[in-house]
Amino acid sequence: MKKETICVQAGWKPKKGEPRVLPIYQSTTFKYDTSEQMGKLFDLEEEGYFYTRLQNPTNDAVAAKIAQLEGGIAAMLTSSGQAATFYSILNICSAGDHFVSASTIYGGTFNLFGVTLQKMGITVTFVDQDASEEEIAAAFTPTTKALFGETIANPGLAVLDIEKFARVAHSQGVPLIVDNTFATPINCRPFEWGADIVIHSTTKYMDGHASSVGGVVVDSGNFDWNAIPGKFPGLTEPDPSYHGLTYTESFGKMAYITKATVQLMRDLGSIQSPQNAFLVNLGLESLHLRMPCHCSNAQKVAEHLQQDERVAWVHYCGLKGDQYYELGQKYLPNGSCGVITFGLKGGRETSIRFMDNLELAAIVTHVADARTSVLHPASHTHRQLTDEQLIAAGVAPDLIRFSVGIENVDDIIEDIDQALEKAY
Ligand SMILES: *Cc1c(COP(=O)(O)O)cnc(C)c1O
Repeated sequence: MKKETICVQAGWKPKKGEPRVLPIYQSTTFKYDTSEQMGKLFDLEEEGYFYTRLQNPTNDAVAAKIAQLEGGIAAMLTSSGQAATFYSILNICSAGDHFVSASTIYGGTFNLFGVTLQKMGITVTFVDQDASEEEIAAAFTPTTKALFGETIANPGLAVLDIEKFARVAHSQGVPLIVDNTFATPINCRPFEWGADIVIHSTTKYMDGHASSVGGVVVDSGNFDWNAIPGKFPGLTEPDPSYHGLTYTESFGKMAYITKATVQLMRDLGSIQSPQNAFLVNLGLESLHLRMPCHCSNAQKVAEHLQQDERVAWVHYCGLKGDQYYELGQKYLPNGSCGVITFGLKGGRETSIRFMDNLELAAIVTHVADARTSVLHPASHTHRQLTDEQLIAAGVAPDLIRFSVGIENVDDIIEDIDQALEKAY
């Protein structure tokens, strides 16, 4: 099936007489006839639902659709994008381990990696994603277990050279984990470029209507966890919490995603509610229609801003001459996303005045939904970062993050123009 068909049709496969639309299995638990049947589920000897913290049919149908969209073998939904990021690392790192990440990443991920994981004894080294392979490789140590980056960084909009990152990761014997939230599998499938694990905040374009917070971890099934003996003991050595079962032996290519589900989700429990999974699924059914509209609207808004002399700079990889234009053409030939960033002459104060005068575009923390929205990261999402960290994260103090929606683009541009008039 092509992507468009997967968006509409994949996941829920009703049998005779079952509902055509994905049902919301609003049930914590599932019934069995004998206690032996139930026991086998707990020992992972048989597959089946028993408790929604581990698996739920609504969630599984949506996870299957996303896995298929990404070209992966399986996926696990999480309660938020943050939980997906956390699990993707925690599934292969424990205290004493280290990983390497691009520095130009989402502010919440930056805090998770640099502060919270640090407290758990998992350390990170941030690298400039545009550095050479040798420079990035220099950040690796014998305890390094993963390399992490974002396809399109939020809000820096740097485009990741996924092939380069995959080469570095694989030459060091570790998987590449890519946050593909902004591009979505409609515009880029990181597995095709060598990524091993993909994560998303489904809160953004996948849901697409700003209705529910959620996340997903997708496994390509391609990484060989046994390649360097002893490198990933959590996957290749017995798990005492399942009578000594070994994930790579019992589940083969499904080892990573199975461990994430039956161990991390069992113990930490950040599940997506079936209700939210249902809403994400509705969003996915039109993802292939919305993304091209977000992209063409954003392209027009970016070009409009670029020719306005009051605008100091515009970043959008669809603009010729943008620092990431070439990488964008390679990895995102059909469009990148609806988010653009720009700064106004006059700096921070003018930018804030401009935002306060927008009428159609609303000031919200959210990005990437049907409605045009705007945010000033230095005052909002990235408030906790120092000026040096802001620069490292690709966030200039005057940067306005403008998330172009799927309204008529003429109305969006008219709103920008009237707010610019009032800002000066
Ligand atoms: C929003 C976002 C996250 C975090 O997702 P939540 O669903 O808000 O927890 C992670 N990565 C990127 C790129 C995001 O935009």
